This record gives sequence, structure tokens and C-alpha cells, in this order.
Amino acid sequence: MQLTQSSKLSGVSYEIRGPVAEHAARLEAEGHHVVKLNTGNPLEFGLEAPQEILSDMVRTLPQSTGYSNSKGLLHSRRAVAQYYQTRGVANVDVDNVFLGNGVSELIMMAMTALLENGDEVLVPAPDFPLWTAATALNGGRAVHYRCDEQADWFPDLDDMAAKITDRTRAIVLINPNNPTGAVYSNELLEAVLELARRHSLVVFSDEIYDKILYGDAQHTSTAALADDVLCVTFSGLSKVYRGAGLRSGWMVLTGPTADAQNYIEGLTMLAGLRLCANVPGQQAVAVAIGGRQSIYELTAPGGRLFEQSQRAADALNAIPGISCVRPRGALYVFPKIDRNVYDIHDDEKFVLDLLLQEKLHIVQGTGFNWPEPDHFRIVTLPHADELEAIIGRIGKFLATYRQ
Ligand code: PLP
Repeated sequence: MQLTQSSKLSGVSYEIRGPVAEHAARLEAEGHHVVKLNTGNPLEFGLEAPQEILSDMVRTLPQSTGYSNSKGLLHSRRAVAQYYQTRGVANVDVDNVFLGNGVSELIMMAMTALLENGDEVLVPAPDFPLWTAATALNGGRAVHYRCDEQADWFPDLDDMAAKITDRTRAIVLINPNNPTGAVYSNELLEAVLELARRHSLVVFSDEIYDKILYGDAQHTSTAALADDVLCVTFSGLSKVYRGAGLRSGWMVLTGPTADAQNYIEGLTMLAGLRLCANVPGQQAVAVAIGGRQSIYELTAPGGRLFEQSQRAADALNAIPGISCVRPRGALYVFPKIDRNVYDIHDDEKFVLDLLLQEKLHIVQGTGFNWPEPDHFRIVTLPHADELEAIIGRIGKFLATYRQ
């Protein structure tokens, strides 16, 4: 019997863990050391979750082995609600806080509950590709609005506005941004909220890097700027709290939630269908949000993440034909390849050849729904010296593609 995959999967992909990752796994199985610059996985580069989170998880583990309420443990949802209250978000109701097995699961639920076949969602290009995949998997169509590299990778508002149709249901914002490192101004967020207001759209604001900020970058939660637009704010423990494997995240619905009761009932039903999120991971949420925010030591000038992100951008900009917008947040750089300098037509092949030759696993720009084969993404998690050496090797490898 031939077992074939459902047509529901056509057009769905996730290149960060795609075919190149299978080659990487094969190389590792053969005994090679592959530097995994493809996933934003802090522990891979020695960044552990704060000790107080780990100690609390160990202490509470015997009580964390049962199911919880489907939306999540009340004290952790309260901690999430209070967090957004202190960030200026109005009318945060603990009943509208959902905990999940990472933001990934919650993105999927938010789309499943929302979309009819053929509905459109405005998703950034480049994007964190789960947003596009989750839209497609739920029968929707991701319509990509352009982010402008010349304008610090801010969304092009005219392009966004021009792409709104009567099928558009939601706008996705990723701020701070993966893969570009952009951090949006209040002015930009207000302009997006105005579009959402005018066209009755939901705003999905993915803020998983909200405390990973460099230099003078300031982050505002989109939801804090409007109480009359339905915002769903997503975040979790994977990045700021270096707990990616805990699979723990949250989403919070704010704004005119009385008008969204039917949608919230749908989400509640979906939360029940997966019974509940991983309870030890949920337990960690309250401790993480309420505890010492050690991330600031890593992101301040002189801190590890700050140094790595800035030196990565410098090292990339020193390569002829490569330009890189300096990241203001998150854990990535997304440099541009000048194709007048380098003969690259297939960026997946370029990334695969780099992996095979140098054992460095980066991700091609088209994997982030960027339309041209002229970018790649590197995770800025390795120590700065190692990162510079890695980028030096990428520069040498690139030189073999010079026109
Ligand atoms: N959103 C963004 C922008 C991300 O970069 C990631 C992971 O890299 C996620 C969501 C998923 O995070 P989680 O580990 O909580 O599923």
C-alpha cells in the first residue's frame, strides 16, 4: 500500500528544519560536528535557563505530572495578565490568557479557530515561516507584505494597505523581528493598528523576543497602543528565558474581546482538544515572569548577546558584496548577498553546499518567504569570537561564487 500525505500539506513548509536539516542530521550521524546556526536554540550555545526556573521546576515536578485546566494553570495565567498590565495593555482578563506548548502551538490554534478556506492573512516578508505555514495548513492564504531593508526592515505600510482585500482577516506583526532584528516604533505600530481598525482585522503580534533588545531599542506591546482593536499577543519561555525545550508559551487576547466571544469559545474548545499544555512548562511561566530578568545582563552593552549580534553585523559588512542591517533585537542577522558580485541563483543549494563543505548550517532567505535568492539568516548565539570565525569561513566560501 502506498501511503501518501494529505493535500492539506501542499504549500506548507518549514525550511528552518527542512531538507537541508536532514543532510545536517546525516552528517552528524556520520560523526561530523555541525554548527547549528539554523535554530534560535539558546542551550545549543551554552545559554541555560535561569537557575531559579530550573530549581522551581524540580521542586514542583511531583505536583506537575497531572493534567491542568485546558487554558493553563491559573497562577501562571495571572502572572501573564499582570505582565501585560504593567506594560500598559488595558483590560487584560485572565480568562483571555491561554498557555500552550510554545508559541508555535498557539499560532496554530489562533489560525485554526479563525480561518475559513480562502481567507487571507497579511504576513511579513521575510517572516518567521510558521506564520505562513499555519495559515496555509488551516485553509488560508498568506499574503506577504514587504518589509523594507532600506528602512531598517520596517513594514512597507503602502504595500500592506494595498494588499488588504475583503478576504483579509488578520495582520501578523513580528516585533522584535525574526529574521531581520527590526524593532518597530510606536508610530509604525499605530499605523498598522489604524489599518486594522479601518478594515476590522485582528492583529496577531508575535513578541517572543520582547526583552531581547540592543542599544537604545525600546519595545512596545502593540496591544498597549489600542484598546479598540482585537490584538492577540504571543510570547513564551523559549528565547528571553532560554527555555526552548520546555515548550511553553502564552497568548493573550485584548481589545474589544466582548465582540470576539465566539472566537474565544473556539480557542477554548481547541485548548480542550489538546487537553492541556505541558504542565512543568506552564509552572515555569510564573517564576520566569516574576523573577529576576537575567536576560538584561546578556543584552546590555558588553553582554554576550549584545556583543554577538553587533560583531556579527560588523563581520558580515566587512565581506565584499554582503550588507547587513544592524539588528536591534532578537537573535538573528539577515544579510543581503549582492548578486552582481556573487553568482547565486538557488539559495537553498548555496546553503546546502555550505553545510556539506564547511559543516555550517544556516538558512536560505527564501525559507523565510523572501522572494529573491539573495539573503540568508544566521543565528547570533555562538560566542562573538566563534561567530566572527564562522562568518570568516562563510566569506571564504562565498568567494568561490564571485562572478
Ligand atoms: N515566533 C517567533 C518569531 C520565533 O522566532 C519562534 C521560534 O523561533 C517562535 C514564535 C516559536 O517559539 P516557541 O518555541 O515558543 O514555539
